[in-house]
Amino acid sequence: MDSKPHRMESDDTPVGRYAPSPTGRMHLGNMFSALLSWLSVRARGGRWVLRIEDLDPQRSKEEYARLIEDDLGWLGLDWDEGGLSGSGPHGPYRQSLRGSVYDSYLEKLRATGYTYPCTCTRAEIMATQAPHQSDGRVIYGGHCRPASMPSASPQPRCVRYATRLYVPDKDITFHDTLYGAQSINLSRECGDFILRRADGAWAYQFAVVVDDALMGINEVVRGCDLLLSAAQQTYLYRMLGLTPPVYAHVPLICNADGVRLSKRDRSLGMDELRKRHSPQEITGFLAHLSGIIPSPEPCSPHELINEFDWAKIPPKKEILIDQTSI
Ligand code: GLU
Ligand code: ZN
Repeated sequence: MDSKPHRMESDDTPVGRYAPSPTGRMHLGNMFSALLSWLSVRARGGRWVLRIEDLDPQRSKEEYARLIEDDLGWLGLDWDEGGLSGSGPHGPYRQSLRGSVYDSYLEKLRATGYTYPCTCTRAEIMATQAPHQSDGRVIYGGHCRPASMPSASPQPRCVRYATRLYVPDKDITFHDTLYGAQSINLSRECGDFILRRADGAWAYQFAVVVDDALMGINEVVRGCDLLLSAAQQTYLYRMLGLTPPVYAHVPLICNADGVRLSKRDRSLGMDELRKRHSPQEITGFLAHLSGIIPSPEPCSPHELINEFDWAKIPPKKEILIDQTSI
């Protein structure tokens, strides 16, 4: 264990977070999730944490983190903890600075006997993929898994290896505020998943659970592309003996062709939008899109706090918008 004491949130204060990867400028879809996460905790008098998920050193840039802070501030979304300045009791709030924390939690998982070293190359894993696996998801077939689990498998010496976590062949269930009961078989959907890659990089699934738990996050609001991740994360919470947060996944904003916005869609990026609109116009547009207000009247996030209600948001997976309408 690292020596720093980590305070777990002990009261019922709602604590939400926005956890962007600083790999590009925010777009309308990112702002949509951020606004709903902020509103959900502010409507209940809770706190909001900003955590910078800069685990990928190649793609993460401090400049993008600065722009994310600037865009959130421009819209009127304030945070109580975290960000680049890292203020708050649970820091550091940048994942790149939290390696020693992840190390100690990896040890806890190792001690359960459900992790094991994997020396497969990407090419070897790809060779075992079923042909229908077209969405880019890679399902690990369990090549390096010990014959019985739990097992005290020795760490290989002088070899680079990834650390994987065994997953059972049964459904993981959790409740989503918007989409209701979820039941996902991890063995079928992803297989034993990586906690730490062979190059030493920490896996998103693992880091996000450790951080959300230690930062006292009890509600996670984010895009519904992460529903499968929520099952992996629920399982990780269970393996670590920690209580998972409430999950509220939200629809993805897609362009008129039904393609979800990416950081490459400049026209709905915050850079372009800020040139054409006021923060109140963007806020009103997003609030209307989510069903919180009946028409896209300009307003501030603060003015929406009393309007916010999860029951108003339809449980769609996608919201299509016409770029020319904004
Ligand atoms: N850092 C992730 C991303 O930007 C989001 C993580 C999360 O909200 O759990 O896609
Ligand atoms: Zn392997």
